[in-house]
Amino acid sequence: LEAKEEFRHKTLATDVMRPRRSDPPLSVLTQSGMTVEEVERLIADTTYSGFPVVISEQSQRLVGFVLRRDLVISLENARRNQEGVVSMSSILFTECDPPMSPSAPPAVKLRSILDLSPFTVTVHTPMEIVVDIFRKLGLRQCLVIQNGRLLGIITKKDILKHMAQMANRDPDSILFN
Ligand code: ADP
Repeated sequence: LEAKEEFRHKTLATDVMRPRRSDPPLSVLTQSGMTVEEVERLIADTTYSGFPVVISEQSQRLVGFVLRRDLVISLENARRNQEGVVSMSSILFTECDPPMSPSAPPAVKLRSILDLSPFTVTVHTPMEIVVDIFRKLGLRQCLVIQNGRLLGIITKKDILKHMAQMANRDPDSILFN
């Protein structure tokens, strides 16, 4: 029983979230300042189902979450149907357009595909609670924040892997059964 108690209190969101210390950093988009080409490259270079959108690389303040498939479709549409869109066009998730040079190519505005209220927990949130929320809300992923800064992501598969690991280590655990 004691072991279970300990486990219950010690596994926190920070223990399950990605990236791990040795992983490359979280792949994020900034709400402005990225070009069509940069976002297309990020899509080509990764297989993630979605990307957090932050105010800036420096602040890492979360603005929302965008699904990979929505991003792919919107970029294809913009390339095909929006006049003047080129590789150097800006991608904007902002509410208001930032000032731009009159000679700049038209921006691609993507706020409409942004989930502005993605589910978030803190690094200290016990996994017991995270699992419960995933089940009750049917989540696919949630974001992990500390002091207003985005630190990581937990997907449903990350949780399933974690549960399998815990089951191996502690077959009597009732917590995730
Ligand atoms: P799944 O976990 O279902 O395979 P993904 O393909 O989105 O879903 O994620 C694969 C792994 O990469 C997971 O461990 C997840 O935590 C992590 N991950 C998901 N999105 C990102 C991202 N934008 N940047 C870095 N890692 C991510």
